[in-house]
Amino acid sequence: MKAPVNHIIDSSFIDGPGNRTVIFFQGCNFNCKYCHNPETINLCINCGQCVPGCPVGALEIVDGKVEWDDMKCVDCGACYRNCPYSATPSVKESTVEEVIERVKGNMPFIRGITVSGGECSLQRDFIVELFRQAKSLGLGTLMDSNGGLPIAFDEELMAVTDGVMLDIKGSDPFFHLELTGRSNDMVLNNAVELARQGKLTEIRTVVLSNNPFSRQTVVNTGNILEPYLKDNKVTYRLIKFRPIGVRGEAEHWTMPGQEQMEELKKLVSDKGFFKVIIT
Ligand code: SF4
Ligand code: SF4
Repeated sequence: MKAPVNHIIDSSFIDGPGNRTVIFFQGCNFNCKYCHNPETINLCINCGQCVPGCPVGALEIVDGKVEWDDMKCVDCGACYRNCPYSATPSVKESTVEEVIERVKGNMPFIRGITVSGGECSLQRDFIVELFRQAKSLGLGTLMDSNGGLPIAFDEELMAVTDGVMLDIKGSDPFFHLELTGRSNDMVLNNAVELARQGKLTEIRTVVLSNNPFSRQTVVNTGNILEPYLKDNKVTYRLIKFRPIGVRGEAEHWTMPGQEQMEELKKLVSDKGFFKVIIT
């Protein structure tokens, strides 16, 4: 079994509790206006447009496919910044065994692994097997997901998943659709079901400057999850939108001020979240 892996970070302190190896998969089912890594959205279609722009000759076309030489690549970003298809040629189709070998190299310095993206749940079968093997090594398993697929209702997946860090990008259906291109029905269903199962570890909302829908999202998320927070340690991470790496209209959006963030934090501080963090 193989999955498209964009990159792996051997050691991270920001993708769940403790030190973790993080596996970033390529491909996403959302198309968020404020996406900071739009090159992770689609799979490369081998159009070849980025090949001549590589300054170190790390890209070439072989039998109609773009091949990326990671030994030559200096990660200048020219290929994915200029890709018209929100893709990158620097993706490795990897087996579970290859990823596990990399993870083993990081032991005993890590507490667990986290899968992210793109959207990791698109690689559901791969993750089930990866998590099974990680657990047999004594490692914890976390998903970082947009919640667009019914992950919380997938018993086999949940059986090997310790927790989920879930994005709630918008509680208003039209705002969410406009922002991401997808409905938020499943996201909200996942949030409640994960909390009910004790598998929700963190909620993340990107806050837009002076946007009433951001405020509404934070308030509604607090209200929806409040009944489950007494028995669960759920962190709410309020993330300031930053106009870095974004495309289109989002390039002109501004960052919310600290005052706005503190007000949102106050709005949910009595709901029972384990921590409310502004980042
Ligand atoms: S990121 Fe790597 S492959 Fe892409 S253009 Fe730069 S050096 Fe070449
Ligand atoms: S990364 Fe983009 S520009 Fe490069 S070959 Fe693939 S689709 Fe074309």
